[in-house]
Amino acid sequence: MTQILRVALDTPLRRLFDYLPPESAPAARQPVPGVRVRVPFGRQRLIGVIAEVATSSELPVGRLKPVLEVLDPEPALDTAVLTLLRWASEYYHHPLGEVLSAALPKGLRLGAPLRPRREEWRLTAAGTAQHSAGEPRRAPRQRALLDLLAANGSLSADALAQQLPAWREAARALLKRGWIASFEASVVTTAGTAARRAPGPELNDEQQQALAPVSAALGHFGAFVLHGVTGSGKTEIYLRLIEQVLLRGQGALVLVPEIGLTPQLLARFRARFAAPLAVLHSGLGDAERLAAWRAAFSGEARLVLGTRSAVFAPVQQLGLIVVDEEHDASFKQHEGGFRYSARDLAVMRAQQSGVPVVLGSATPALETLQNVVSARYGVLRLTRRATPAPPPLLKLLDLRQHALQGGIATPAVLAIERHLAADGQALVFLNRRGYAPTLLCTGCGWMAPCRECDARLTVHLSAGRLRCHHCGADAALPERCPQCGFAVKPVGQGTERVAETLGALFPQVALARLDRDVVRRAGDLEAVMARMASGAARILVGTQMVTKGHDFPNVTLVVALNADQGLFSTDFRAPERLAQTLVQVAGRAGRGAKPGEVLIQTEFPDHPLLQSLLAEGYDGFAHAALAERAQAAWPPFSRLAALRDSAPSSAAALGFLTEARRVARAPHGVKLLGPVPAAMAKRAGRYHAQLLIESRERTALHTFLGSWLPEVEQLSSARAVRWSLDVDPLELF
Ligand code: ADP
Ligand code: ZN
Ligand code: ZN
Repeated sequence: MTQILRVALDTPLRRLFDYLPPESAPAARQPVPGVRVRVPFGRQRLIGVIAEVATSSELPVGRLKPVLEVLDPEPALDTAVLTLLRWASEYYHHPLGEVLSAALPKGLRLGAPLRPRREEWRLTAAGTAQHSAGEPRRAPRQRALLDLLAANGSLSADALAQQLPAWREAARALLKRGWIASFEASVVTTAGTAARRAPGPELNDEQQQALAPVSAALGHFGAFVLHGVTGSGKTEIYLRLIEQVLLRGQGALVLVPEIGLTPQLLARFRARFAAPLAVLHSGLGDAERLAAWRAAFSGEARLVLGTRSAVFAPVQQLGLIVVDEEHDASFKQHEGGFRYSARDLAVMRAQQSGVPVVLGSATPALETLQNVVSARYGVLRLTRRATPAPPPLLKLLDLRQHALQGGIATPAVLAIERHLAADGQALVFLNRRGYAPTLLCTGCGWMAPCRECDARLTVHLSAGRLRCHHCGADAALPERCPQCGFAVKPVGQGTERVAETLGALFPQVALARLDRDVVRRAGDLEAVMARMASGAARILVGTQMVTKGHDFPNVTLVVALNADQGLFSTDFRAPERLAQTLVQVAGRAGRGAKPGEVLIQTEFPDHPLLQSLLAEGYDGFAHAALAERAQAAWPPFSRLAALRDSAPSSAAALGFLTEARRVARAPHGVKLLGPVPAAMAKRAGRYHAQLLIESRERTALHTFLGSWLPEVEQLSSARAVRWSLDVDPLELF
């Protein structure tokens, strides 16, 4: 019977492509699912992955072409990862070829070998004969190189470089004469050890009770929410579980938010385990990413730590998945075509692999908490800090009642003074970088706009620039209004300006800033952290960056300068995000032995969200927020997908979505809402719009999407826009 190879290619087409096996192939290269192949595709040659091996094709076999080459002696994607990717392709309604390529490092997509290779050199038959005859007599370097190869059989380029500097030149000459030859050898890697480097602290009672159910679940699927306040010892529990998994001879996958992969966290893992660790994050170069992927693939690294896309990492003998800070928005890919949730895929992967998954957070997502309510996930609570630190005290500061200095209310200034006097450190949080969000003309009221976006330009004073935080536009900071020539002035606060204000208020106190303008290169973050840790800096001003993952043991005061962005947003998720940010930043206070104080500045101290957060903490907020979501039938009480597009004109952007809506035959229970322009319709010179699809029922939604999208793709208006489907969108316009 003819074998048909069904190949996934990195194209936007929603289908596999049929090929015949290669006309001649080494027996060691079997075309099985997961193996990469090179195929003819029109006039191109593409690298794809065999998704299925079938016995028949819809096309006449005579018209099928054979694959040109089987690249791998073993699958690049094992059955588990391939199954996960196929599931993701269906759930996110995205072409399998593009989904598969998201899981492979660029090097592998371009055909690099799965396992690292080493350049080796050996004598040819002619070389051996000439060497025995004492040749070459007048070229001592070449002679020395032949001597070495004759004595060792073969040698790697590295070994040659060590023993015979300038060997390359000699090698070139000998290669020309046909006396030596090079070949590529696979590097044999040994599986990593499970050895523990250092023991951790003894677990407290709560930690032991949280650890036990997951330990008991090793070897089976189980989803657990580790809901523990900041500093309660969640990371310690991950470390214990990983240790158990490594001792079982298995591997562990740990997913962390984009910003959470801090040197502190890595150092903690490295200090605990002797086993090599593979680290995968978006800051890696192509070669580093390939090396980390290979370390996992070969089993050399049995512990893989990474951000979003590491959910597809080839961990050998997977025994456990951990998702730290599971509520973090960076687990959702919100750009490009394949918009997946790494957290949700982690749960699916754990289920398919029959291993436990732990979702840890001090502020679990409402979706996750609802999964606890419906008993799909188990919950493990850590209510106390692991160190003797008491929980921080939260207070609201009414901005309408106090004098402000550069956005800081007098009681906050006094509190900073008090904490500094008591040898503490202060953290001042404002989720806006730059000097000021607006440049205003006091004569005519002109406010520096971005030409490409519906947004204002942010003043960056020390850099002397005006920058758009949405499209990256960058211009010199004008001294006068371009419209009327009158003086301009920055209005409002960003971290740069708050740092300036605090510098003026506390001239004797050294200050550090932490935001994306300050942290530009590797090492910048560590430098700021080190200044805080040593006490060289005593006040830290920062954006969202300060809320995650860092431990500042001597910070006793946290001031959140503005809680009000998010209180009145049209996005139904805004309150959840605000509550999470406030609780996370509050958690930075008083992690050491001293008690912490948290001041939240707001113009709306009576807002129910702030009130419930203060009175009942995140639990109380989450309870109330879930009730609201249930009543409004928002997720998790309904399912959403967003069809989004952008185009050079607003009419084109809305036109495509309107046509898409027109061809939709939505069944009962599936509702289409829109299309509407995005809240910030113009961004980077393009107009954005969205059409929401909502259903109470997951299956109904997916059945509808499955039949609708092929039609949407065929619309002629689709060619005038860039569009994408976002299943379970996190951000709504
Ligand atoms: P989380 O991940 O919940 O923020 P961590 O695991 O980072 O908490 O723990 C907070 C601090 O408490 C860390 O410095 C950690 O070393 C320490 N710690 C954790 N568990 C214990 C324990 N059982 N005994 C003593 N110290 C602990
Ligand atoms: Zn003006
Ligand atoms: Zn812009």
